[in-house]
Amino acid sequence: NARIEAFDPELAKAIADETRRQEDHVELIASENYASPLVMEAQGSQLTNKYAEGYPGKRYYGGCEYVDVAENLAIERLKQLFGADYANVQPHSGSQANQAVYFALLNPGDTILGMSLAHGGHLTHGAKVNISGKLLNAVQYGVNDQGLIDYDEVERLALEHKPKMVVAGFSAYSQKIDWARFRAIADKVGAYLFVDMAHVAGLVAAGVYPNPLPHAHVVTSTTHKTLRGPRGGIIVAQGASEELVKKLQSIVFPGIQGGPLMHVIAAKAVAFKEALQPEFKAYQEQVVKNAQAMAKTIMARGYKIVSGGTENHLMLIDMIGKDVSGKDAEAALGKAHITVNKNSVPNDPRSPFVTSGLRIGTPAVTTRGYKEADCVALAEWICDVLDNPSDDKVIAGVRENVSKQCRQFPVYG
Ligand code: PLP
Repeated sequence: NARIEAFDPELAKAIADETRRQEDHVELIASENYASPLVMEAQGSQLTNKYAEGYPGKRYYGGCEYVDVAENLAIERLKQLFGADYANVQPHSGSQANQAVYFALLNPGDTILGMSLAHGGHLTHGAKVNISGKLLNAVQYGVNDQGLIDYDEVERLALEHKPKMVVAGFSAYSQKIDWARFRAIADKVGAYLFVDMAHVAGLVAAGVYPNPLPHAHVVTSTTHKTLRGPRGGIIVAQGASEELVKKLQSIVFPGIQGGPLMHVIAAKAVAFKEALQPEFKAYQEQVVKNAQAMAKTIMARGYKIVSGGTENHLMLIDMIGKDVSGKDAEAALGKAHITVNKNSVPNDPRSPFVTSGLRIGTPAVTTRGYKEADCVALAEWICDVLDNPSDDKVIAGVRENVSKQCRQFPVYG
């Protein structure tokens, strides 16, 4: 960043500090990852300068012949990755991809049935504070006392409320989802099944988590979580009708977006090519192994994991009944250079600003090269801090161990 430093030292310092933070803190936020230098090179390219409203071959601006190549590469690779026959790579984010699906297929006031934020769903699945919960009549399902989606209850709600769309997918659920069961429920009431696979897209691409595409009418994702690309969104489908495809295409542009971010689309193309390599499958398998090793260690130390373990890249530590809140735990672990986020757990007696839970995920540490033994050590240190959240000596000791471990696994070298 020598040139930014000369022109804008204040900003250069923020970038340098953040770069250092990413190297010397251990990142356990389940929705984060480290994009490759190739992805970042594409995203920092001259493609940022180009207006390209429309789609490849049908643009509203001249000079689009080369960005068309980039977008077509992204589309074709994305289709291959998930077995899709329809792909749109233009959504600027996961939220915008979801908005596109709602606006394409529903009218204001229509009923949707989605997973509640408090039980592991995402804001965009019908939370009151989100446009999905404001414009639509959102009915919400959750998990049962075992921390599992109760499909009979989802079906009961569907039969009672007759939603026009059933939304499946999550931000904090550690088990596999029975996509076929969700489709059967949607079919029973004549609803669309919309799957938001943002969290598990990388696992799905690698074949280590069930693929929702054969079951859903439409699927969205972010590209920056387990999929390890640039920040962004996508829409994909398998066997979608011509009418559905038309609606999706025209809602993204000109419906809710203007010019696509061509530099981000180029970076998506690189990320999708990376995800098609055999190493990516090995990476995703390791993500799950690492998460399972952490969950086992944390449970052995007397902490509850919601749903009793993990089948994917994340877990929720349930601290209901413990003296330490999610907020305090996040702060104490932060002092030890372990980055996590507090998270409500099912039936949480504490407010969403305090919470009784922590969400932990392994995509980022696995990109650094952590294997099971490293994750077990890390889980032990997390429990040391959770057992002693106000003990500065314990926290300092853990911070020292974390620093050593981070130096052993540099992110960008
Ligand atoms: N969908 C799910 C399931 C998510 O977890 C998230 C982000 O955390 C999003 C959508 C939103 O993605 P973005 O932050 O890119 O808008």
